[in-house]
Amino acid sequence: MSSTKIKQAVRSLCDTLITPVPPEIKEEFSHIRLRHTVRGLIIFSMVEAAYAAANVLILQRFPVRFTHIHSDFYVSLFSYLAVMTLLVFLVAGFFKKKKDRMLWGLCYLFAFLINSFALLNMISTESERLFLFIFTSTLFIITFVFNFKPRLFIPSAVLFYAFTVAMLINNHYSFKEMRNLHLFLLYIFLSMMIVKTLYYNSQVKLFTEKARIHEMNNMLDALSKTDELTKLNNRRFLLRYMDFLWKQCGRLRLPVSALMIDVDYFKKYNDTLGHVEGDQALIAIAQCLKNQIKRETDCVARFGGEEFVCLLPYMEKEAALNFAKDLVQTVEKMKIPHPMSTCSPYVTISTGVASIIPAENSPHTRLLDEADKALYRAKASGRNQVVAA
Ligand code: GH3
Ligand code: MG
Ligand code: MG
Repeated sequence: MSSTKIKQAVRSLCDTLITPVPPEIKEEFSHIRLRHTVRGLIIFSMVEAAYAAANVLILQRFPVRFTHIHSDFYVSLFSYLAVMTLLVFLVAGFFKKKKDRMLWGLCYLFAFLINSFALLNMISTESERLFLFIFTSTLFIITFVFNFKPRLFIPSAVLFYAFTVAMLINNHYSFKEMRNLHLFLLYIFLSMMIVKTLYYNSQVKLFTEKARIHEMNNMLDALSKTDELTKLNNRRFLLRYMDFLWKQCGRLRLPVSALMIDVDYFKKYNDTLGHVEGDQALIAIAQCLKNQIKRETDCVARFGGEEFVCLLPYMEKEAALNFAKDLVQTVEKMKIPHPMSTCSPYVTISTGVASIIPAENSPHTRLLDEADKALYRAKASGRNQVVAA
């Protein structure tokens, strides 16, 4: 087998054992894991600090009772860890959260320190129980407190296990039941590896699913606000936005203007050129209206059929009228030929303008009603023009 084939086989084996993270969510997933790690470390440091403090207090009162479980060791270990954790977060806080890499680096460093501290203490201990305790708790911490990916966790756990076993063999420990101890260490080590891998895989699956649902929600949200043909805002969005503006402008005593826009002789346009051409004309008009909108708070929407509405908050009647006149001219200047129109050789629009400072408790439908009435007058006066209510 060639080396590329072996590489491929190893990769597919790894992918089977460890669920791969889809590339598009890699960065965010890493951020989430970092957040878990930081949260884990904060809880961990608080527990350690409380434990160290309690030990110091209890030791001062009952110095004899606890000597057989090496309280000195616990106190030194936990104080050390608590101080280190605080240090990490002081530095991390200093660099703020935008520096993900820096924080990860500190977490790696901290995990390394915990491992070395545990190894050093295992070398010097004479008690089998304490030995086991240090081994188990260290593995537990690097498994569950640090949310490292398995590719990093597994080698470091293997290294830690190998060091521990080498230490046991080399230092001729006088532990009574060495064989049992070895088996027990192996058992703990393997269990942690399995649990960690399963936990990580479930995290990846959960996060991928969450990201998918989030994306679908965004898509649905956009769909529910957008008109299918023209890609403008739809009527549902317009009415909601108008409700909001109506209340806001009412509170601030500011005017809100609305333009009711209708394409002239559009039935005839469809009848002579066909619906497909009609659709293209609607799309072009929609784009033209959208281009005329300059302020972020202004909104143009397809109200239905060949009717559009423009909402212009905080705009006085005079300004809205001028804006509407510009719109009417710009649409005609697009020069979309209309063979059956009697008011122009091109496709044109008529526009009704209404401008109101909303009074308390008056319904927002008033605005569109008035704009609609003005539009009717614009139609009656010959089309391709603007009339204000
Ligand atoms: P007026 O100048 O009085 O507004 O005349 P009009 O023909 O534009 O008005 P009418 O309400 O009689 O006709 C509107 C037409 O708009 C009817 C319909 O064929 C067309 N229409 C509505 N929605 C669409 C659409 O989505 N695509 C196309 N191609 N045509 C549409
Ligand atoms: Mg109409
Ligand atoms: Mg029309």
